[in-house]
Amino acid sequence: MHCLDCLKTVNFVSASFEKRNNADMSDITSGKRYRNMTTELLWKWIITLTLNTDGVSVFRTSRTGSLWPVYLTINELPPECRFSLKYAIVCALWLHPSKPPRQAFLQLLMSQLKELSTNGETFKTAEGLQHCKVILIFITCDLPARAMILCMKQHNGQYACPYCYNPGVTIGSDHLHQYWPIKHDAIARTHASVVSDVTEAVDLRHPVKGMLNVVSPLLALPGFDIVDGTAIDWMHVVYLGITRSLLDRWPTFSDEIYSIGDKVTFLDKRLLSIKAPDHFSRIPHTLKEFSTWKGSENRSWLFFWSLPVLRGILPREHYIHYSILVVGCRLLCGMKISSNDIDRARQLLLKFYERHELLYAALTGSTPATFCH
Ligand SMILES: [Zn+2]
Repeated sequence: MHCLDCLKTVNFVSASFEKRNNADMSDITSGKRYRNMTTELLWKWIITLTLNTDGVSVFRTSRTGSLWPVYLTINELPPECRFSLKYAIVCALWLHPSKPPRQAFLQLLMSQLKELSTNGETFKTAEGLQHCKVILIFITCDLPARAMILCMKQHNGQYACPYCYNPGVTIGSDHLHQYWPIKHDAIARTHASVVSDVTEAVDLRHPVKGMLNVVSPLLALPGFDIVDGTAIDWMHVVYLGITRSLLDRWPTFSDEIYSIGDKVTFLDKRLLSIKAPDHFSRIPHTLKEFSTWKGSENRSWLFFWSLPVLRGILPREHYIHYSILVVGCRLLCGMKISSNDIDRARQLLLKFYERHELLYAALTGSTPATFCH
């Protein structure tokens, strides 16, 4: 059976297609990339897919291996059912002590997607049976999984950013690239530049600008843009990246002006006195336990608890700087965002990034200070 045969049973809702004409961003279907890729005269119906994969621990020890499912989600479905088990399409499973092989892992799926994007398939839609083109337009994975399927160096390697040519710098005695100083002249990667780097890497048999000498199966898919089609790993970059990095830095460096090491007990009293509304799945945990916080706890801290808890404790300049991060990220996480919101968020986050280097100059920490993208 074709791995996407289950798509034929899906009754598509045309409301998602209507969102293409909405100026505000509220879903993947209102994005510029989606609009560009689905505007085609030859096909009335185009179904788009997003691919996700990640390693899931299913055994007590990691030596036994992880389960790697590969999912496709149908972007035209309403979000409330798009991510439900009923409609998420499991295309492949890998269970082995070692990680999936970079090339073979997605090869069969890519050949099937190539066929679907070229010749299309007949599906049941709200308007009856339709011959549709099916295209993969996005992949969304966490940093380790993304590096694996893009065939790139891991996120702490030199030139590990999949979006630009900022090489990053190492901190301390190890060789891990954990900090990306702001570079206004950093050149953006393009699909063509990535193809060129991979070709050179294969010829030379060693990595070139972060690309390994292995060709990602994604490059075999016509029309798929390996740079624009790769989503930013917001959870690791923001919640488990810069948010956790600051939580680690503030109490640790006792000689620094921003040190709050002797005020953590007081801050915990403030934090634990917060009465969270019922719709929060996790209530605040103490700051002393922040290293065990999950991504969702770091998210709640960033958006809801941190500013009232840190007010009057963190030095004024550092507090304002941190609030710029909170407001910039909050703007991008609204249910509906305008192009003005995006411009404003860009300005704020750039300002935060620039000031970050000045305010936290002592880059001697053991945790990553920032990620590039
Ligand atoms: Zn970058």
